[in-house]
Amino acid sequence: MHLHDHDETNAPHQEKEHRPTERDAHLSQGVEGAQPPLETTGAHEGRRHKVAAGIYAIYETAHYGIREMGAGRTVHTLLKLNQKDGFDCPSCAWPDPDGERHIAEFCENGAKAVASEATTKRLTPEVFARHPISELIRCTDAQLELMGRITQPMIRRDGSDRYEPISWDEAFALIGRELRALKSPCEASFYTSGRASNEAAFLYGLFARQFGTNNLPDCSNMCHESSGTGLSETIGFGKATIRMDDFASADAIFIFGQNPGTCHPRMLTELQRAARNGCRIVSVNPLIESGLRRFRNPQKPLELLSPGTEMACLFLTVRVNGDLALLKGLMKAMLEEDDRTAGRVLARDFIEHHTEGFDAFARDLHSESWEAIVEHSGISREQIVEAARIAMTSERMICTWAMGITQHKNGVANVQSIVNFALLRGQIGRKGAGLCPVRGHSNVQGDRTVGIWEQMSPEYLKALGAEFHFSPPMKHGLDTVCTIEGMHRGTIRVFVALGGNFLAATPDTNYTSEALQRCALTVQVSTKLNRAHLITGRQALILPCLGRTEIDMQASGEQFVSVEDTMGVVHMSRGVNPPASEHLKSEPAIVAGIAHATLNGRTTVDWLGLVENYDRIREHIEHVVPGFTQYNARVRQPGGFYLPNEPYQGKFKTASRRAKFTVHAIPEHGLRDGQLLLTTLRSHDQFNTTIYSENDRYRGIAHGRRVVFLNPDDVDRLGLHRDEWVDLIGHFEAETRRAERFKVVPYEIPRGCAAAYYPEANVLVPIRNAADKSNQPASKSIVITIEPARTDAAH
Ligand code: SF4
Repeated sequence: MHLHDHDETNAPHQEKEHRPTERDAHLSQGVEGAQPPLETTGAHEGRRHKVAAGIYAIYETAHYGIREMGAGRTVHTLLKLNQKDGFDCPSCAWPDPDGERHIAEFCENGAKAVASEATTKRLTPEVFARHPISELIRCTDAQLELMGRITQPMIRRDGSDRYEPISWDEAFALIGRELRALKSPCEASFYTSGRASNEAAFLYGLFARQFGTNNLPDCSNMCHESSGTGLSETIGFGKATIRMDDFASADAIFIFGQNPGTCHPRMLTELQRAARNGCRIVSVNPLIESGLRRFRNPQKPLELLSPGTEMACLFLTVRVNGDLALLKGLMKAMLEEDDRTAGRVLARDFIEHHTEGFDAFARDLHSESWEAIVEHSGISREQIVEAARIAMTSERMICTWAMGITQHKNGVANVQSIVNFALLRGQIGRKGAGLCPVRGHSNVQGDRTVGIWEQMSPEYLKALGAEFHFSPPMKHGLDTVCTIEGMHRGTIRVFVALGGNFLAATPDTNYTSEALQRCALTVQVSTKLNRAHLITGRQALILPCLGRTEIDMQASGEQFVSVEDTMGVVHMSRGVNPPASEHLKSEPAIVAGIAHATLNGRTTVDWLGLVENYDRIREHIEHVVPGFTQYNARVRQPGGFYLPNEPYQGKFKTASRRAKFTVHAIPEHGLRDGQLLLTTLRSHDQFNTTIYSENDRYRGIAHGRRVVFLNPDDVDRLGLHRDEWVDLIGHFEAETRRAERFKVVPYEIPRGCAAAYYPEANVLVPIRNAADKSNQPASKSIVITIEPARTDAAH
C-alpha cells in the first residue's frame, strides 16, 4: 500500500504527507474491511515494565507530543490540560483534584489523547481524493489515527468508492431530507460518544425528541450500563457515591475488574497516597497489571529513580467472570466470622435501619458451598479469607470497578454483589467509604445526566416538553444493541453518531458492519478518520468538529463547554488552540445545523440562536435537569460544582429509602473440553478504540496487537507453542465466529482463561449475548476454542 495521507505542519491549515512505513508492506486486508487488517510478522514479546509510569511515561509523553504537535505547541497545550482555566482531558473521566493542581495535571495517556487531537497533521479533501475507501480500509487503526485531523465536511455518494467535499449547508440539507423521508422518526437512531459536552448532548437529545424518537444509544450502553442499572436498583443512584478526597481517608480499597494504570492512570496518584497512608489495596482481576504493582509518580522528580511505591498488597487473580463467586466467598467468610464472634463483624445497626433483604441474602450465602466458590472464582479459600479479613477490619472501605465487572451476561449481578459487599459493614455514605464505578470516557456520565438515554424518566421528558413547548415521545427508544439489530433488519434507515468509532466500539464486528451498510445514510461527527467512516450506509457523511483543545468562537464571542467527571463534578472546559481548519464547526453548532435543516416549521426552538451563546443552552439545562441550579454562575467557579449525591450523605433513593441486599447465583459457563473463556482488554497505548501505537509495554508486547494471552499449562494442554499463529473460534448457542491470526503468548492468567485486545477480538462478541437487565454486550466472557491459523502469512 502506498499511502500519502496527511499534512504535518505547525501552521494549522497547510498540507504535508505521511510516508508509508515498512510495516505497510506486511499488511493484508481484514475480513470485509470491517476488522483491522491481519498481521504477518506480528507482535514481539519483550521486557515487561513492571513499575508503572516513571521516566518512561515522561519520555513517551514528550515523544508522542513533539511528534504530533511540535515542541512549542506541546508545552502550550499540555500546560492547559485539566487546569481550572483550561480544557478537560478528552480521554477518561477521572476527576481533577478539588484543591490545588499540579502544573502537569495529566497522565501519559491523557497527553497522548490531547496530542492526537491537537496534531498538526491534516487529512484534507486532496488526501481523500488520492485514496479510495477500498484502499483506506487496508490501513490499521493506528495508521488511520495518524492521518490527522479532518478539515472539511466530506460525503461518500451512493455507489462511490471515495469521499469528496460537501458544503455544510448541503450536508445539513441532505440529512434533513433523508430524515424527513423516513416513514417514522423511529427509523433513525442518534448515537452519542462520551466526548460530547453537556451542551452538545443536551441539544442532541432535544433534537431527537423533537424529531420524534427516543432512539438515543450511547457508549455507556457498552461500558457502564450494568453499573447504572445495578446501582439504581439497589441504592437508587447510578453513579459513584464518593468524592476524590475519600481515597486519602480509606483504609481498604478493593479494585474489581479494572486496570487503572492504563485506563485511568491518574487514579494511581490517589492510590499511592492511600497506600502511603497505610491503606490496604486489593486487586481482583484475572491479570496482574503493572499499575497496581508499583508506581513512580511522574509529577514527583525525586521518585523517578526510586523503586516506586508498592500499591496492592494482595492480588486475587480470579478466573474470567469469577468475580461473583469471589464476592460470595468474601461475604461468606465475613458472615461466618460474624457468627463466630457473636456479631462483631457486620454493621448490624446499619443493616437493620438502612437496608432490606438481608435475611434472604444471608440464607443464600450460608447455603453456597465453598467448593463452588473456590471452583468458580479460581481463588483458594485461604486467599479469600485473607482478603475478607481486610474487609472485616476496615473502617473505611472503597470499592471501585470497571468493565471487567460490567461486560458479562451477569454484569448487573456482579455490580449488585459489590453493593452487597459494601453494605455488610455499612461502607456507603461515610468519609473514606463508598462505591465507585470508574467511567471510561471523559463526559459519558454528563451526557447521560443531561438526557442521552433511550429510557429517560417521564419526569425528565415532561420537563423537556414544558421547557420547549412540545410533547416528547414517551416510549422508550433503542439502545446500542437494539440499534444495530434494527439496522440489520432494515428498520433503522438513518444512523447519526455524535463522535466515537461505532464499528470498533460495538460487538459482533461483521454483523455490525452488515448492519451499517444496510442504512440509507450514516453520519459521523468526528475529528479524525476511523473504521466507522469506511464501512458505511448507502450514502455517508463525515462532519468534522472542533476538539476539546480548540477555541470555540461563536457569534457572541469565545465559548466554553462543560462536562461531568466520574464523581459528579461539573466543570468548564475551554480550548486554547486555533481550530485545525477554518471549516470546522463545534458539536453544538453541528447539532443545531442538523435540527434547523430537519425540523423546519415543526419547532419553536431558535436552534441557531442557541449556539450563538452557550449560556442560553445551559439556562435550558438548568430548567430541565435537577441539580443544575445557577448553572452558568456555578460552572464559572474554578473547579466547577458537585451535583447532588444522596448516597454520599448516607441516603438511599429507592422506593423504601433503604439500600437493597440482592441474591445472585454464581454464573455457569459450562465450558466443554478444549474451550476457554476469553476476556477482551486494551493495550497501554490505546484509549478506548483509539490506537496510538501497536505496543503494550506493561505486558511486554511490541509491534503488533493480534496476540492471545494464555496460561502456559493451557498452551501445553492444547498442544500449542509460543508465537504460533492461531485462530480464535467463538461459540455462542449454535453459532460460531472466527477471529483470525493471533499469536500465542504464554502469560500469567488463570487456567481456562484467555485474553485478547479489542477491537480485534470484538468480532467474537455475539450481538445477542448481552447482560440481563442492562443489555450491555458481554465482551468479557466469550467462549472460544483455538485452532491453527487457516490464513498463512502470504494472505
Ligand atoms: S487520568 Fe484520565 S482524565 Fe486524567 S489525564 Fe489521564 S486519561 Fe486524562
